[in-house]
Amino acid sequence: MMHWSLRRQSSWVQLAGHQGNFQLSEGGEVLKLYSEEEAKCLDSLMTDLLRPFVPQYHGLVTRGEHCYIRLEDLLSGLRRPVIMDCKMGVRTYQEEELITAKSTLRSDMYQKMMKIDPTALSAEEHAQKGVTKCRYLQWRDTTSSTSMLGFRIEGIMMEDGSVQRDFRKILTLAQVTEALLYFTRSQLDILKAYHSRLLALSDALKNSLFFRTHEVIGSSLLFVHDHSNKASVWMIDFGKTTPVPDTSELRHNIPWAEGSREDGYLIGLTSLITSLSQAISV
Ligand code: ATP
Ligand code: MG
Ligand code: MG
Repeated sequence: MMHWSLRRQSSWVQLAGHQGNFQLSEGGEVLKLYSEEEAKCLDSLMTDLLRPFVPQYHGLVTRGEHCYIRLEDLLSGLRRPVIMDCKMGVRTYQEEELITAKSTLRSDMYQKMMKIDPTALSAEEHAQKGVTKCRYLQWRDTTSSTSMLGFRIEGIMMEDGSVQRDFRKILTLAQVTEALLYFTRSQLDILKAYHSRLLALSDALKNSLFFRTHEVIGSSLLFVHDHSNKASVWMIDFGKTTPVPDTSELRHNIPWAEGSREDGYLIGLTSLITSLSQAISV
């Protein structure tokens, strides 16, 4: 059992993902349900230039029937933290997922599209009342800023603990800038701290072997600050990040074409940096 004072010190909160996937642990760690892909990535990251931008990884632990990844708790020591999860990249599905998703018509996915934007459906799709999963996955990323800006805001938690997820519908850079001003309450020090942290990340990514050799899908940048004006950004969530074949390297700054495995991660990072610059000059 965790001691009450430890529990009180931690302001752990989970902005995205399945609730059952995480457990709080003693000593400033969080436990995330094990996946082989993610554990492999974290292993490599601990010896990569990106290490200062990733929660420290302490190996595996078994709790009950499940195995967990032990991660540094990025909220540890913060009081009433304000956090934002930005899912990076111009697509949020792996190429692998498309391969098996091209033939079967899915009526559930047709219904989901109907609810959000019936005009996105073709006459043929309306007639068959179904779409392929492939079509659905690609469409879904156009309903947020993912396709156009290379990232989307998954959620924001303010200091009172309220969580907002409507930012996922944002489409333009101007809307992102507005969201950043809201998230930081226009505090210049915090905006500047985020801006310089992202510039440092951008430098590290340019020289990182891990980044050159991995397709980074569904990974997030976690923005965290509190009243003390400490602000930082971390790369998290490597469950869908996979190595590319030995001979190839990715650029991350060009649009995706099927088969290229490009993820557009740097397109998203550039959008975020541009938007922060705009927020700073408001
Ligand atoms: P999904 O794939 O649906 O995005 P997931 O189950 O892979 O979710 P993550 O995205 O890794 O989970 O994490 C979910 C949330 O948990 C993050 O948005 C963040 O709020 C919190 N979180 C994850 N890792 C940490 C950490 N090391 N320290 C603090 N908070 C974390
Ligand atoms: Mg995530
Ligand atoms: Mg994930």
